[in-house]
Amino acid sequence: MGAALVTASYGLIPGGRADARAQAVDYPSAEWQPASASNYTASNRPATYSVDHVVIHVTQETYTDTLAIFANPKKKVSAHYLVRSADGHVAQCVRDADIAWHAGNWGYNTRSIGIEHEGWVDQPSYFTDALYQQSARLTAAVCDRHGIPKDRAHIIGHYEVPGTDHTDPGPHWDWPRYMKLVRAA
Ligand SMILES: [Zn+2]
Repeated sequence: MGAALVTASYGLIPGGRADARAQAVDYPSAEWQPASASNYTASNRPATYSVDHVVIHVTQETYTDTLAIFANPKKKVSAHYLVRSADGHVAQCVRDADIAWHAGNWGYNTRSIGIEHEGWVDQPSYFTDALYQQSARLTAAVCDRHGIPKDRAHIIGHYEVPGTDHTDPGPHWDWPRYMKLVRAA
């Protein structure tokens, strides 16, 4: 349970909030915004499953509503990270070691990191420069941490997950631009 994790960190580390947050996130500049423990599977990756994919999503919700959905134990959905449209701010909602429920495919969930982007597939104005840049930095860091190749075989859209009926990130997502930013980060 995320809130308990932060509370435990407060107890263990005298340094206070900054130290507790650093303890809670895998991506140092991310803000810890925990998903409900009812919305992901606790695990110990990569010991339990190797992590070899990043799955790119678009929320079809606002940033704030997405955090509320992930925190709602009845929703049964989560992602590891959420990137805000206006400024590229990154929230981490599930630890990399745990299995977020984002791909709609258990096999892909077990071996991927899910990154949500605030916006709608048919509204490209949400895909700001800041969102692309900060998301690319995040994806590059995830790839470096887990040894994931920075190519389209391993950095995929939700629509490329077998069996899905989801279309995100949709036709307006600029994959060539995104991959160039990931490789340059
Ligand atoms: Zn999706």
